[in-house]
Amino acid sequence: MKVIFKFFLVASLALILSSCQQAEKTAQAETKAPLVAEVMSKTSQSVMTPDDVLNNLMSGNDRYRSNKLTARDFPAQVSATTSGQFPKAIILSCVDSRVPVEMVFDQGVGDVFVARVAGNAENKDLLGSIEYAVGVAGSKLVMVMGHESCGAVKSAVDKLDVGSENVDNLLSQFEPAITGTEGERNSSDKAYLTNVVKANVSQTVKDIRSRSGIVKQLEDQGKISVVGAYYSLKDGSVKLVD
Ligand SMILES: [Zn+2]
Repeated sequence: MKVIFKFFLVASLALILSSCQQAEKTAQAETKAPLVAEVMSKTSQSVMTPDDVLNNLMSGNDRYRSNKLTARDFPAQVSATTSGQFPKAIILSCVDSRVPVEMVFDQGVGDVFVARVAGNAENKDLLGSIEYAVGVAGSKLVMVMGHESCGAVKSAVDKLDVGSENVDNLLSQFEPAITGTEGERNSSDKAYLTNVVKANVSQTVKDIRSRSGIVKQLEDQGKISVVGAYYSLKDGSVKLVD
């Protein structure tokens, strides 16, 4: 009799445990959002204003900072973008490995063009790329994004000399930002370095407007915007730079 009782007790406990686990699995499945497979289309790009695009990037940055990146179906997005692309923005960023641009703005395949060069200063090839993005591919926003503790800008402040014409040429692009920033030329002064990085962003925005007729015209017509931004290595936030 005792044996039968024990058997029923164990069987009942096993049944209760199993139904609890099942309920937990069902709850997990219900809370898990489906993977996002949609990509930018000509229509979704054309209905966005430059402000919409900026807001979209900034809310993506909020999700990045709160560890709530969108779960995407990447193979589906790859497949959906094979025949064309309609990116909403072009972002000119530094090459720094701590600034993962698409992740910083929670963007998927086909969402944004990303142009990268150490210190995020423009040059003719980058201007051509920006003009292609806004003039041909229909992007609505040009963002120049500098970042905290930029090694390229720091090297220019320190007058780094590695005996390379290429490096000299790269670093020389930051001179206007350095000479235009008040303070002693000293990269260990964190506030000074931050001000130079921001001045370099503003200078690059100004240069893009003055050196590209296409960008200037589209911005004057209100079809695109050019903005500067600063990325914090400390908290992953992006803030606009005047
Ligand atoms: Zn950098």
